[in-house]
Amino acid sequence: MPAQRKPIVAIDGPAGAGKSTVAKLVAQQLGLLYLDTGAMYRAVTYGVLAAGIVLEDQEAIVSLSAESEIQFRGSQVWLNGQDVTQEIRSPTISAHVSQVAKIAGVRRLMTQQQQAIGSHGGVVMEGRDIGTQVFPKAEIKVFLTASPQERAKRRYQDLLDQGQRVGSLEELEQSIRNRDFQDATRDIAPLCPAPDATIITSDGMDISQVAAAIVELYAQSTLQGVCS
Ligand code: C5P
Repeated sequence: MPAQRKPIVAIDGPAGAGKSTVAKLVAQQLGLLYLDTGAMYRAVTYGVLAAGIVLEDQEAIVSLSAESEIQFRGSQVWLNGQDVTQEIRSPTISAHVSQVAKIAGVRRLMTQQQQAIGSHGGVVMEGRDIGTQVFPKAEIKVFLTASPQERAKRRYQDLLDQGQRVGSLEELEQSIRNRDFQDATRDIAPLCPAPDATIITSDGMDISQVAAAIVELYAQSTLQGVCS
């Protein structure tokens, strides 16, 4: 009897909603692979800025993206043999990543890689368009959000914990709002909940409560079809 294909858990949502922490925890609890697709767009953006390519030169960005080898090694992100884990979280990358992520050719390349990684199921993938574009048939779709104030506070703390230089909380909230606006209004694969996504607004919830809610959705999805 062929091994049953494991479900895909798609977690989308705006910046700072806690997707990464929650997705990692869910993957750990369910014994699934975890993929942070935002890290892929950040790695390409790092490569673009390091190469001195201007953000208007979409052709050069797509070529560079096609030649970029992005690897996940445990919790590290490597770009063309260089560990860029820390660098891709900088405010400069955060400020420019949406401009790179809106380019059709870049999205096509990233989406192909993400679909290849998840082709056998058994993955928790987080991003902006996983439930709408990358895996529109994912068994579990969650749109995780929180108020902009709450998200800014969380991101502020994350950056401090990572030892990154941070400006004021207000500046961070503004940059998060700008990025969400760009991600939600772009032409291709905009940030938007899939019609069949479960929306979780996590204000006042802690990470373990959000993870438990998603694990429960997973448990329900694996029960469906058992009798058919
Ligand atoms: O998740 P994170 O905040 O690290 O994502 C960085 C950026 O990458 C997002 O603001 C968005 O522009 C882009 N992104 C995307 N599609 C995804 C994941 C991230 O466009 N699936």
